[in-house]
Amino acid sequence: LEYSSQLEAKSAELSRTARQLREANAKLTQVSKQKDAFLSQVSHELRTPMTSIRAFSEILRDAEGLSAEEQTRYAAIIHDESLRLTRLLDDLLDLSVLESGQVSLNMDDATLNEVLDRAVSSALAGSDRKIGVRRVRANERIPLYTDLDRLGQVFINLISNAQKYCDADEPVLTISAHDVGGQMVIDFIDNGSGIPTEAQSLVFEKFARVGSDKAGGAGLGLAICREIMQRLGGEVAYLPGHAGAAFRVSLPLAYRQAAQ
Ligand code: ADP
Repeated sequence: LEYSSQLEAKSAELSRTARQLREANAKLTQVSKQKDAFLSQVSHELRTPMTSIRAFSEILRDAEGLSAEEQTRYAAIIHDESLRLTRLLDDLLDLSVLESGQVSLNMDDATLNEVLDRAVSSALAGSDRKIGVRRVRANERIPLYTDLDRLGQVFINLISNAQKYCDADEPVLTISAHDVGGQMVIDFIDNGSGIPTEAQSLVFEKFARVGSDKAGGAGLGLAICREIMQRLGGEVAYLPGHAGAAFRVSLPLAYRQAAQ
């Protein structure tokens, strides 16, 4: 009798192991599928600028009788497309480092105000598109203890997105900070037509683009922001209920206390 109950226990253990193996296998298949999908998206994103660089450089090399103006225009396209490629590769590299979890954070203290000032100037200097930035400074003196460059990178991304995608006649971005329920919360709300409800949770996925705005990048910016905020122990999320696009960055207040 004892022998048979031992056998039963063994057989239960075996079927448990078999189930675990099956589950692990299913997970591996899923990861491998995601990897394939990612690679095919990457190659697609790389191919578009590559094709145009090849085509226009061939025209410059082979076509006879191009006017000086045409030559300049084609060279400018090649230049823009190679910048796009560089940006894409930089973003992919940054994302893969962040996702691997092998980023070392460079913690320091500053007030929110200082990080925002720097991010606003840097974003505005980086683009020709005009946007008014309205700051609600009430809580901006709040001290932070975090990786200031990484947090600044998130802010720059959100400000540049408002610059790129806000479709108001007179684009305005309002940035306001609050201290809510143990969290430091910073809202970025523009006066454009916003992001449709069904797309609001998707914009943080890699290669997510709403509509077909070719002026934009590859759709990696918000995915990078999400990874950074996760590393900083906080979050970035879409803030529903506004007419324009609205994003909320939150950092736990513990980071603040650590600085004191
Ligand atoms: P990219 O790096 O290509 O700019 P993001 O990941 O930053 O892409 O953003 C994803 C998509 O979300 C953009 O392609 C755009 O369609 C949409 N989006 C982001 N910010 C805004 C905004 N302020 N207003 C409208 N759409 C936005």
